[in-house]
Amino acid sequence: MARTVNESECGGEPRIPEPQGPGRGAARWGPQHAGARELATLYSPGKRCQEVISVVLCFSLMAFNFIHLLANFHLGHLWYIVLGIVAGILTADFASGLVHWGADTWGSVDLPIFGKAFIRPFREHHIDPTAITRHDFIETNGDNCMLTIVPLANMAFNFLTLSPADVYRNYPWYCYLFALAIFVTLTNQIHKWSHTYFGLPGWVVLLQDLHIILPRKHHRIHHVSPHETYFCITTGWLNYPLEKLSFWKSLEDLIQGVTGEKPRSDDLKWAQKVK
Ligand SMILES: [Zn+2]
Ligand SMILES: [Zn+2]
Repeated sequence: MARTVNESECGGEPRIPEPQGPGRGAARWGPQHAGARELATLYSPGKRCQEVISVVLCFSLMAFNFIHLLANFHLGHLWYIVLGIVAGILTADFASGLVHWGADTWGSVDLPIFGKAFIRPFREHHIDPTAITRHDFIETNGDNCMLTIVPLANMAFNFLTLSPADVYRNYPWYCYLFALAIFVTLTNQIHKWSHTYFGLPGWVVLLQDLHIILPRKHHRIHHVSPHETYFCITTGWLNYPLEKLSFWKSLEDLIQGVTGEKPRSDDLKWAQKVK
């Protein structure tokens, strides 16, 4: 299969293929692509409502827990805190890859409720990669906020009910959980920044250049059709080792062997909807 970069948002390296053959004249990638337009119309008011509630709850719980982490800080925990934060970031990066790989590779927009709510954005992102840069804060972050509400609520409950001695003992674990929650919550915002080529704040570009968050050039590797590698989108730290281990390919071979399902068949179906 011809490998094509299907991004259009920036100058520089990407080559956007001209439409050829039977699809000539129809938009190949981007907001005019027929599949992308159809997917965009499936964003419903109910879905929006779920996202608003998720963002409000998540950020309130995050602020509450952050204040309690500061209030319970002890210098003696310093190395455990650093270790906890690094482990939390690595876990978030791996989780981002696993969820992204799962949604890109399996399932269908036609699945009841789940398909339109959670698979749709992944399909849209491949055929219109710049759509994410036009999404507002709520649409960008709503789903990830929903994921972290329960663990953040559990942590808040612990701060309210445990004795100071128990909080002291669990503190490194809370640092791990909090770093994990922060990076899971921010994953799609970081992903959006990796597609944004104009007007990014200097500190975001610095974090990208230092590879503390997903760099733009690094994420481009995933956007080469057929989108079969570099699924981690939080920091991207695990992309190279997982690719070297053929981790995603092995997982796909195993699942295909057991279920007979072909990887990325729904993604390919949407990519081919040019009319
Ligand atoms: Zn993808
Ligand atoms: Zn992307």
